[in-house]
Amino acid sequence: MIIFHRAKDIQSYLLTLPKKETSIGFVPTMGALHKGHINLVQQATEKSELVVCSIFVNPTQFNNASDFEKYPHPIQLDIEQLLLAGCEVLFLPSVEEIYPSGMLQLKQYDLGFLETVLEGFYRPGHFQGVCQVMDRLLSIITPKDVFMGSKDYQQLMVVQKLIDLKGWHQQLQLHACPTIRETDGLAMSSRNLRLTKEQRSKAVSIYETLLYLKNELVAGSLLNIKQNAIAHLTAAGFKVDYVEITNATTLSLVTHWDGKEQLTALIAAFIGEVRLIDNMILTDSHFVSYY
Ligand code: AMP
Repeated sequence: MIIFHRAKDIQSYLLTLPKKETSIGFVPTMGALHKGHINLVQQATEKSELVVCSIFVNPTQFNNASDFEKYPHPIQLDIEQLLLAGCEVLFLPSVEEIYPSGMLQLKQYDLGFLETVLEGFYRPGHFQGVCQVMDRLLSIITPKDVFMGSKDYQQLMVVQKLIDLKGWHQQLQLHACPTIRETDGLAMSSRNLRLTKEQRSKAVSIYETLLYLKNELVAGSLLNIKQNAIAHLTAAGFKVDYVEITNATTLSLVTHWDGKEQLTALIAAFIGEVRLIDNMILTDSHFVSYY
């Protein structure tokens, strides 16, 4: 695996590759890698001739300074995992490489509705930061395919919107990869490393709540199951930002189900200082049993 720290060096290297034969698959991450990230790398190795991964903890997407400061940086472990997974190129830039003109006057993107709901509402500026870093990374690496996780459901929509805004949709395909979970159902996340033993055992309630919503879904008002879901999480010790049921494609909130519309449930909640998010498509097959 070749490791690059500077944008111009990785660009020069990528330019030496035969353009037509080398399709680049890109996996952007913030490090503290787990099986969810490694699964993205594996999907990329299946689809692409060259797999490029980046590790960059992007300051502009953190709306909470302490969350940024406490973000884990186990870089040696990350490198070992990427080597084993078959990543060929790792981009490990500094903040100055990503934002050479500083971070004060960065470009703003018109994300419309996506920025007003759910994560957009609760984390002001977060998706602007995601677009700023993705715009820069995609411009440097110029991949044919980019692999991202459905765990960050709304982020996928934002990155697709960025691709459309930039006019890149002809040459760049975004692949939504499945959420990888721990054996008890908790979605893998770098932030799980910050949970105490007690918080970790309670954290599974998010997954249980999503299963509850999926299994109790019937046509008509969704108010009751939503209220029960919030009550379940609160009783487990969470401070809930939101439990919402939305149209699976547009993210518009659904309070009354016609029995046909494709739905996704999305949750964001704090356990102690750690904010966790997760989601589940509610309408793909009806009943899911807890394993
Ligand atoms: P992050 O390092 O948290 O910025 O995540 C980098 C990429 O990994 C994003 O595309 C995430 O959606 C994806 N990802 C994070 N956790 C998971 C997971 N549990 N399963 C699948 N993909 C994930």
